[in-house]
Amino acid sequence: MKKAAIIGAGIGGIATAIRLAVKGYAVTVFEASSTFGGKMKEFVQDDFRFDTGPSLFTMPHLVDELFTLAGRNPTDYFRYQRLDVITQYFFADGTRLTAYAQPAKFAAEVEEKLGVPAVQVKAYLEKSARTYEATAPTFLYKSLHKISTYLSPDVLKTLPALPALGLTTTMHAANAQAFPDNRLVQLLDRFATYNGSDPYQAPATLNLIPHLEHNLGAFYPEGGIYAIAQSLVRLAEELGVVFLYDQPVNEIITQDDNVTGIRTTAGALDFDVVVSNMDVVPTYRRLLPHLKAPEKTLQQPRSSSALIYYWGIRQTFPELHLHNIFFSQNYQQEFQHIFREKDISPDPTVYVNITSKYTPTDAPPGGENWFVMVNVPHNAGQDWNTLIRVTRETIIQKISSVLNIDLAGLIATERVWDPVGIEADTSSFAGALYGSSSNNRMAAFLRHPNFTSGVKGLYFCGGSVHPGGGIPLCLLSARIVSDLAPNGSTA
Ligand code: FAD
Repeated sequence: MKKAAIIGAGIGGIATAIRLAVKGYAVTVFEASSTFGGKMKEFVQDDFRFDTGPSLFTMPHLVDELFTLAGRNPTDYFRYQRLDVITQYFFADGTRLTAYAQPAKFAAEVEEKLGVPAVQVKAYLEKSARTYEATAPTFLYKSLHKISTYLSPDVLKTLPALPALGLTTTMHAANAQAFPDNRLVQLLDRFATYNGSDPYQAPATLNLIPHLEHNLGAFYPEGGIYAIAQSLVRLAEELGVVFLYDQPVNEIITQDDNVTGIRTTAGALDFDVVVSNMDVVPTYRRLLPHLKAPEKTLQQPRSSSALIYYWGIRQTFPELHLHNIFFSQNYQQEFQHIFREKDISPDPTVYVNITSKYTPTDAPPGGENWFVMVNVPHNAGQDWNTLIRVTRETIIQKISSVLNIDLAGLIATERVWDPVGIEADTSSFAGALYGSSSNNRMAAFLRHPNFTSGVKGLYFCGGSVHPGGGIPLCLLSARIVSDLAPNGSTA
């Protein structure tokens, strides 16, 4: 039996561990922190439970797939429900719009609240689906960096459609051309933030993202997002995967272009295969200092980061749903602050996620657990203490005014996570949430592959490498690594 080491127990590392165990490997996961999950952790403070990072869950079949691959029934481990309402939107002009899950109902709501004909909204979502179907086989399901990808029948079938799918224009330009209503354009532009990008720079191909949420659906895992990591670790352990916590890997050992093992404080350990789920930049800088690093790849601009206020709130709000967006007045200016000026707009769009809407025990009776997030630049040495203080005041004023409340007085407990904390806790370079940004049309090709041609047996998974960040793409990175790795059983 071959031995595989996974560096990091983020969602990508856990999924890779499961896949390699199924493939016959003896798998050990080395995790620097005291528990699994990486960005996807949870904590309880003063009787309020919070998921630390991801809150939107799409493409749940990619989680189910891991259980079925291992011969298990997914619902014995992990349950989730499809949301009826995806997001409650509050626009700066006072308009409120409920994004219903059913595309026809959503389109009717857009017609009623924004005056855009429903038929145009439905056509947009259908185009989004076509873009996804034409691009996913090439850009998401396989390695972009293997000739075999371009020769596979499913990719060959879709290649002719690629040039028409928006690589030559931006998301915003395409959305503004599709719709005259600035509010609907803002709603659609926001999908760029799902991979930490700027809709005014990112290619229009990314307008496939609404398809995932509005056609395929948004979901809520029973017990919150952390249940994803919990249930997968349970499966991995049943398959014999060993998780070692408080065990940072300090070096990936190579010899004659082959990986031979890793080094921790316990010394050098032999492995046939090593998979890094650590962000690819520190993987090269800290664990592979003897290797020539792919500088062009590592120096790609980072994605945005986040500033999160976890607030236990002493009141319930029937007008709020699981996902809520309070939009800024000037979206373009907001992205200029994030990506050009590298600071936070004085009027940021605010996202509020409230899991106690679905899991009432996440907050004490009469209260709600608010995960309040704004998109911010990655860490470039800004004065975060001042930004945290000023942005807190801005958010409180904004939500207080929209909901006609005194929000400051309702905050029972509080914790803050900023880009510096995100980097310290997860080793994500500069605290970027999704590795490099997708702000140019070559970005997909410039992400680090899931392997390196320089070292046989060394692979990469997780949000900083191909195909990208976010739960579904991290799960796909695990699938690609497992497809690339040889069988683990020596027989
Ligand atoms: P990570 O979560 O980055 O974990 C890497 C792990 O490696 C960590 O546990 C770290 O401790 C460990 N590690 C690092 N270095 C070493 C070492 N040397 N030795 C051993 N272990 C090491 N995605 C969505 O799909 N939907 C969302 O709504 C969403 N919202 C988000 C909001 C926030 C605030 C954040 C932070 C992220 C969000 N994301 C969202 C992104 C999503 O969380 C990530 O893309 C995904 O969880 C990253 O997983 P990963 O596999 O890359 O590993």
